[in-house]
Amino acid sequence: MTGFGEDAAYPVRWQTTVEGRSLHVMVRRQAINLLLDNDSPSFTFDPAGRLHGAFVEGRNYRRSLDNRMLAKWSEQDGTRSTRRRRWLSADEARAVVDLAYQMAARAAGLAGDAPAAIRSALEAVTGWTWPRLVADRRWFERIYTPVGILPPDQYLALVLQATHGCSHNACTFCTFYQDIPFRIKSPDEFRSHVAGVLDFFGPALAMRRSIFLADANALVVPMPRLLALLDVLADGLESEIRETGKPGAAATISEPSPLGPDALPDPTFPHLPPATCSLPPATLPLFAFIDAFHVERKSVADWQELRGRGLQRVYIGMESGHDPLLRWLNKPGNAVDVLDAVQTLKTAGVAVSVIVMSGVGGAAFADAHVRDSVALLNAMPLGWGDLIYISEFREQPGSDYVRMAAQNDVRALAPDELHAQTRMLRNEYRAPDPNQPPQFSAYNIDEFIY
Ligand code: SF4
Repeated sequence: MTGFGEDAAYPVRWQTTVEGRSLHVMVRRQAINLLLDNDSPSFTFDPAGRLHGAFVEGRNYRRSLDNRMLAKWSEQDGTRSTRRRRWLSADEARAVVDLAYQMAARAAGLAGDAPAAIRSALEAVTGWTWPRLVADRRWFERIYTPVGILPPDQYLALVLQATHGCSHNACTFCTFYQDIPFRIKSPDEFRSHVAGVLDFFGPALAMRRSIFLADANALVVPMPRLLALLDVLADGLESEIRETGKPGAAATISEPSPLGPDALPDPTFPHLPPATCSLPPATLPLFAFIDAFHVERKSVADWQELRGRGLQRVYIGMESGHDPLLRWLNKPGNAVDVLDAVQTLKTAGVAVSVIVMSGVGGAAFADAHVRDSVALLNAMPLGWGDLIYISEFREQPGSDYVRMAAQNDVRALAPDELHAQTRMLRNEYRAPDPNQPPQFSAYNIDEFIY
């Protein structure tokens, strides 16, 4: 699966000089990098040529597939470095995009004697412009409903929406799927979605490291229906795409674009070649969320079968080990359900990630939340390959949580109290086997981007 020739050996590097400054181009299987001087500015494009990320004047930028841009940087605050982030306006995002493609155009103009892989990569990149990325967003939005959230280690997954929304959709703090009724796709509908996704990504599939079965609770789907959906990934799809694609070559546009008439300013621009877009299900591990309450609706044998279909890790929003707080948050299930769920999955050989929310329940629940959450984590058979995420809680405007906190006089923790609680959750954890502990990581929902 490559857009740059089957026999190219990666990485391929090439260097030139622009106005006395060195410009490096590096083509890897999964990305194209342009770097000026000491790596600033630098730009990363996916193998289809869409801008993926940038580093300019000390700021990191990440562009989402729906063409929004998140800026992240650090600020010194006394002796402490504080991470900042903000979504750019369309004009600000366009300035970063234009800078990236101007630099790519200069490189392409000088690349006449560069290796073929470099020239192909720069050709893929220089076909993009801001208007084309705007049109690309519309294409993306025809294939996907909003991707509400992913675990941080899955931001580079290929998201496939087998379901829409969340089957529970009633946790008081959560606004991710408020307006999306839960629905399970039929196999035919899912097949068509997956085919659309593959066509959209084209050679950029090489950047994706896993499959994330979305949305929030896709694994609650009853086993026979879930297996029928997974069958879509396992067979049929590749041959369906190959029948319509043109192996090994970029086809020029000859049929109506899914983007609409204004989507492609240059009518000779090569369409992403669908023949390069087959899913390799045996090599891409599968990940998904599930709520703890629903894990037990499947047997250990069911989970083993899903593991055999590629399911590698399941993410459970535990939030807290304190039952009164879980009830106040209107989570499905209680602490024992979470423990049972983790034990079932681990018995089946499926890795687990549990997500704990530091600071949820504010000052009113703080002591009991830490005590019972640590006790629950310490009782779990977690080890190497498992993940404990700590997500520092932020009230979502418009959520029931905000209203209930005001009614019940639940004071939010101050930043220092929040960080102290995060440290307590981390420091009081004891792995069952200290030589093979699970990994701890931060889960900052404000940095989610797809
Ligand atoms: S189960 Fe997860 S996605 Fe669903 S409402 Fe609760 S927190 Fe949100």
